[in-house]
Amino acid sequence: MGDKAGSRRWRVALAAVVLLIGVAAAGYFVFYLPHVRAQDTQAQATRFLMDTSVDISAYGRDAETHVKRALGEMERLEEVLSRHIVESEVARINANAGDWVSISDDTLAVISLALQIGDMTEGAFDITVGNLVSLWGFGTGSYKVPSEEEIAAALATVDYRKVELDKTGKRVRIPAGTVLDLGGIAKGYIVDQARSYLMKQRIQRAIVNAGGDISVIGSRPDGNPWRVGVQNPNDPSQISWVIPLQNNSVVTSGDYQRFFIQDGQRWHHILDPRTGYPARELKSVTIVAQTAAEGDALSTAVFVLGWEKGRELVERLPGVEGILVGSDNQVWISSGLAESVVTL
Ligand code: ADP
Ligand code: MG
Repeated sequence: MGDKAGSRRWRVALAAVVLLIGVAAAGYFVFYLPHVRAQDTQAQATRFLMDTSVDISAYGRDAETHVKRALGEMERLEEVLSRHIVESEVARINANAGDWVSISDDTLAVISLALQIGDMTEGAFDITVGNLVSLWGFGTGSYKVPSEEEIAAALATVDYRKVELDKTGKRVRIPAGTVLDLGGIAKGYIVDQARSYLMKQRIQRAIVNAGGDISVIGSRPDGNPWRVGVQNPNDPSQISWVIPLQNNSVVTSGDYQRFFIQDGQRWHHILDPRTGYPARELKSVTIVAQTAAEGDALSTAVFVLGWEKGRELVERLPGVEGILVGSDNQVWISSGLAESVVTL
């Protein structure tokens, strides 16, 4: 009898010890391990997307996983917004020109902002330039200076005011014969989405760079602002200006980015929807704005608006700054940027 009671006591004691070890182990996994994992790590990755090299550097918990997922999200969005990808939403809108087409929230957001910037710039920014862009060979690779007749025919299909956007029904309709091209804004929007994704993952410091469309989270790990170089349009291998960035974006449009030479002239990819020809007054436009989507569309629009009207727009818009280089190499730096930009 005494023996039985003794062995029961031992069994109870053993059970208690096992339980204790269990609790300690659980505690280790619940409280200690996350602490170890919570240490900030640095991650960097590059992928070729949107016809350019896309680079993300991030600091924070699980940075490596989040950077990979952010790039994955960018790839997914390119497949939605590029008109050159056969199954994209934009390709579907173009293939069904004249009819209503259902669209995702992303496409809706991009078209909506693009139309707004069209209004803001009196049509200098116009996402219905698709036929014109193709006529010059941008996107297809068969570059040539078109005839006056060809330009007139393409221009007849260009007018962003004819794009009907049904926001509640989430659908869009473009006129038959018109071709939508989000090339002047989609990259910026995609950069913004990568940034938002990283912020949701509580990444506190990051820089997303898609071939010059740049957006940052926070500051550099040393606490100083991120610094972004702006290329010299006459020699893109050189940096002419350095702009400090903190929780905002910078985007540059230049005549040196995509162009071909014919008859001794440079013909580039930023087209004036009023004339059908590449915009002539500027060599490069850099825009600092809250979002890269705004910056992207505005850099294209200011490029088209030219020296006078472009500067006027930049000064008028709150939270928007810029650097313009004229075709005569004159440089203008907006008032809000003059003090912080470093000229090299
Ligand atoms: P990149 O794509 O090289 O960064 P931009 O952001 O300046 O350059 O956009 C240029 C692209 O935008 C062109 O390749 C074309 O697809 C489209 N585009 C050209 N002209 C206009 C315009 N006036 N308005 C809107 N989009 C345009
Ligand atoms: Mg642009």
